[in-house]
Amino acid sequence: MLVEKQIKSILNKHKKRDSWFLDDYSVNPYEGCSCNCIYCYIRGSKYGENMEDGLAVKINALDILEKQLASRAKKGQYGFVAVGSATDAYINHEDKYRLTEGMLRLLLKYRFPVFISTKRTLITRDLELLHAIDTNAILPADLSDKLSRGLILSVSISSLDEKIASMLEPGAVPPLRRLELVSELKQQGFLVGVNAIPVLPFISDSEEELEKIISAASDHRADYILIGGLTLFGNAKADSKTLYYKFVERYNAALLPKYKELYGNNFYAPYAYQDKLKQRAKKLCEEYGIKNSILD
Ligand code: SF4
Repeated sequence: MLVEKQIKSILNKHKKRDSWFLDDYSVNPYEGCSCNCIYCYIRGSKYGENMEDGLAVKINALDILEKQLASRAKKGQYGFVAVGSATDAYINHEDKYRLTEGMLRLLLKYRFPVFISTKRTLITRDLELLHAIDTNAILPADLSDKLSRGLILSVSISSLDEKIASMLEPGAVPPLRRLELVSELKQQGFLVGVNAIPVLPFISDSEEELEKIISAASDHRADYILIGGLTLFGNAKADSKTLYYKFVERYNAALLPKYKELYGNNFYAPYAYQDKLKQRAKKLCEEYGIKNSILD
């Protein structure tokens, strides 16, 4: 059931800029996410197994955001704002509530640069606003010699296999549609890449699967591809590790012991695994002539 709630603060300032996405701030118009990804880090008892059940709309978000942006802008504290860091900015309720659209209008008014990563296609509704942000935003001083635009877009894909994606990301559009979205956004002239996070151990991390995803990003004219491993939090009923292991059992039970060995009691795969993934991805990106980070 969807709940409408009042909030006191909405603009989160990070202690440190995000090294992948370059955002200094984040805003989340909704609590929970209709994409309902099994591996999502926001899972847990608060949201339960079906995150749609725990969805909340931050009904006064625009009033609060306007005050907070005005105060930061007055002090010249510009930085990329990630719209949707703990939800997808274009969840299915955005059609009705249009909070993301309202937030983009405010970000344009106060001239903040924007980062958006999505698994849904409703973003094409806001093209005009996104173009205006791209050309009018004020970049933070230390990025202004490295970037010449105020909008960074990303389309998130963990596997190109439609069956896997429908099991893992039931509320997202199919991966091939997401790739088409990359092409459409490129055609509009935006800076847009693929966010291949998480790559799934023993499923989408083989040489062949990595090559498929990197070559597909390149074929769809993505400016960059970010590649990162799978994080699995918690052991409670609705936590991502529990739900993900259930998915592995359904998908291919033979993989479960391998996962248990790789993750043990940890949330992350060991450093050696992650480093190897990074090196292999870097090599393939070089072969396909695509950047593996947003900046050069
Ligand atoms: S789209 Fe992102 S925020 Fe939404 S469920 Fe998936 S991983 Fe979580």
